[in-house]
Amino acid sequence: MKTPELTTQDQARLQQFLDQLHEDASVVLGYPSAQDFDYSSLHPFLGLQLNNVGDPFDDGTYKVDSRDFEREVLQEWAELVNAPEENWWGYVTNGGTEGNLYGLYLARELHPNSIVYFSQDTHYSVTKNLHFLNMRNIMIRSQPNGEIDYEDLYETLRVNRDVTPIIFANIGTTMTEAKDDIGRIKNMFADLAIGDYYIHSDAALCGAILPFMQEKANFDFADGAHSLAISGHKFIGSPIPCGIVLALQDNVNRIGRSIAYIGSMDTTVTGSRNGFTPLVLWHAMRRFGREGMRHRVQHCIALAEYAEQQLQNVGIPAWRNPGAITVVFPAAPAVLQDKWQLATANGISHIIVMPHIKREQIDSFVEDMRALRAQENPQ
Ligand SMILES: *Cc1c(COP(=O)(O)O)cnc(C)c1O
Repeated sequence: MKTPELTTQDQARLQQFLDQLHEDASVVLGYPSAQDFDYSSLHPFLGLQLNNVGDPFDDGTYKVDSRDFEREVLQEWAELVNAPEENWWGYVTNGGTEGNLYGLYLARELHPNSIVYFSQDTHYSVTKNLHFLNMRNIMIRSQPNGEIDYEDLYETLRVNRDVTPIIFANIGTTMTEAKDDIGRIKNMFADLAIGDYYIHSDAALCGAILPFMQEKANFDFADGAHSLAISGHKFIGSPIPCGIVLALQDNVNRIGRSIAYIGSMDTTVTGSRNGFTPLVLWHAMRRFGREGMRHRVQHCIALAEYAEQQLQNVGIPAWRNPGAITVVFPAAPAVLQDKWQLATANGISHIIVMPHIKREQIDSFVEDMRALRAQENPQ
């Protein structure tokens, strides 16, 4: 049967929409979506329905999949976040939120009598996930830089020593890119003689940055994480939201369920799974390589430093967490929030310097900020 074509009118509408999107995408400074990608060699795969239904490590009965590539992607990232060689498992998710949901689900199955601790600055998706899972939880204060308040955490852990703690650690908070130090949190457990605990790292943004930095933050499996989630469409760059979740195999084995219908273990949150995004993540790592990723990270940090400095030079008290690509400053005027698509909350705005951002864009943004301030505060 011949598939009918779109009308010229519909085609024109799509073209117009595409042009508008290109224009909008060129002025995103507030959201972490890398745009330095070219996945055109993957376009032919959109002519197929790739479905990685079920567990990535089982060869299910449905063969139109990309599980081989998915496993390579997982292997690469497992190494990068120091997962124990013979004791990790994971899959390519639909994004950070699903990875976090999986991590919390695993934690709950392992520790039914538990409390989840997370800071005030935690991504909005965590409260939703906790609600889905009906888990007991306590919100901990944040420090002004967005990092968890260790004293508040310590005190709260101390009074709840009889209940297994599950730490939902922020490895790059949404507004200020603060990183909770899970090494420091582990020391608290030792100090309080808490033997049973679980740590999940929400490394949506920074999980794809930190492995390529000189100074290592305490966030991965080597530092005590039991599971970790990374977004694929943030620092790595993907036209379709996706992510990676990794967890300790021993723990996963305790909760899997085998399903005859698909010939695979039902280990993942969704049944049918995107078979295209593993190709995207594979492509990104083959193209950049670890060295290329290191360059991207260096570029972003250097440019973030520059942006911070330039904003300060025009009298705006901009600041950055150590090693962050997010530059924070008092809430920008509404017109600029709109023009540059700046995320703004609790009186602060930020820009996130992603790999495709160029110095000229920063200069143009700083000039806008300067001009508006001059207008509002004439000398
Ligand atoms: C983006 C983000 C998430 C959610 O990830 P999605 O990929 O958008 O689902 C969770 N936590 C943090 C810290 C994030 O930055």
